[in-house]
Amino acid sequence: MSPRKKASSLRCPTCRTLVLASDENFPFCSDRCRLIDLGKWASGGYVISAPVTDPEQLESMRPEEPGEDSSHKHK
Ligand SMILES: [Zn+2]
Repeated sequence: MSPRKKASSLRCPTCRTLVLASDENFPFCSDRCRLIDLGKWASGGYVISAPVTDPEQLESMRPEEPGEDSSHKHK
């Protein structure tokens, strides 16, 4: 037995199906699994942690509009 340098087959990273090196989607068993794996990487890089802004907070963040009565105020 001689160890081969090239792997003639690998297991699909997504579903662990044995995939031959001759497969067009190698090392994935299918285009679908390739997309799933890419999606994993993409979602792993983007951690969506958008703060939940509640309407009450937005209300208090509004700049105060000058009231009409304050401008009309006379000493
Ligand atoms: Zn697969």
